[in-house]
Amino acid sequence: MINDIDIWLERLTSLYRSQIRHAANNEGIQPVHVEILQYLSICNRYSNTAQALSEYLGQTKGSISQSLKLLEKDGYIERNQCPDDKRVTRLYLTPKAKASVKRIANSLMPNLGEAKEASDALKSLLMEWQLKNSHQGFGQCQSCRFNRSLPNGKFQCGLTGEPLTKVEVKQICREHEFHSQS
Ligand code: SF4
Repeated sequence: MINDIDIWLERLTSLYRSQIRHAANNEGIQPVHVEILQYLSICNRYSNTAQALSEYLGQTKGSISQSLKLLEKDGYIERNQCPDDKRVTRLYLTPKAKASVKRIANSLMPNLGEAKEASDALKSLLMEWQLKNSHQGFGQCQSCRFNRSLPNGKFQCGLTGEPLTKVEVKQICREHEFHSQS
């Protein structure tokens, strides 16, 4: 049976999809390209690959590959071989794409400022949903169970052992896992 949360979620997602279509139209690109540019603007250095994009957007690798070819041809993305693992190709936004993402962000949502209450409520909903469906991954680094706050005020990823900057702990990571009891 449909409950209130289902109804609000349906309204929010359908409004969001409609705004994405509108933004894509303004930018002269396809809606899925808007989603790709948005993802690449918020993901961290472990998550900027075609494979991660395919998982995040729930699209086939073939369809993501076609979109990436178009975005690269039109000057929105660059691909670089990962210096630590030559088998991995990483995706980066060009200045043209960053300008586009900024315009899109300004047009998508009303200015809610920090809106901490709304943000906390959405985070709890996502957490509950992911835990219930054993569908981890793609959360904000600062809420990950592997994120360690160090005494010197810095952060470290407990999975890789690498340091994390303040900017990186706000980004989305493919390896993210919530604390199961939080
Ligand atoms: S702490 Fe978690 S979210 Fe952050 S980089 Fe490591 S695995 Fe990813």
